[in-house]
Amino acid sequence: MPPRGGGKKSDLRACLVCSILQTPADFLAGGCPNCEDILEMRGSSDRVAECTSMMYDGLIAMVEPSESWVARWQRIDKKMRGLYAVRVTGRPPQDVIDAIEARGGVYRPRDEVED
Ligand SMILES: [Zn+2]
Repeated sequence: MPPRGGGKKSDLRACLVCSILQTPADFLAGGCPNCEDILEMRGSSDRVAECTSMMYDGLIAMVEPSESWVARWQRIDKKMRGLYAVRVTGRPPQDVIDAIEARGGVYRPRDEVED
C-alpha cells in the first residue's frame, strides 16, 4: 500500500465511464466496481490504461449516494460509494461506448461539466 496523506494524487486513476478513483493496482486486481462488466479491466494493465485516466480534476467522496446533491449533479447516485473525480480528461475506446449503448445506456463524457 502506498503511504497515505500529503494530498498526492498521482497514484490514482479515474475510470473514464463512471469517474471513480482507484489505484492502478485496484483496477488491475478488481476492475471498476461500477463498470467492470463492460470494461473488463481485471487482469489487463493495457485495458486499465485504455479505460482510466490520470488526468482529472476535483474529488468527491461518495458516502451516501442517494442523499447527495453532488451525486445527483454527477449522475452517479446509482453507483458505488467511493472516491470520484468531478471531471476526467479522456475518452474510453469505441468498443466501450458501443457496449454501453448496446445495453441501452448512454455514454456521457466525463470531461465536460454540465450546467
Ligand atoms: Zn467505472
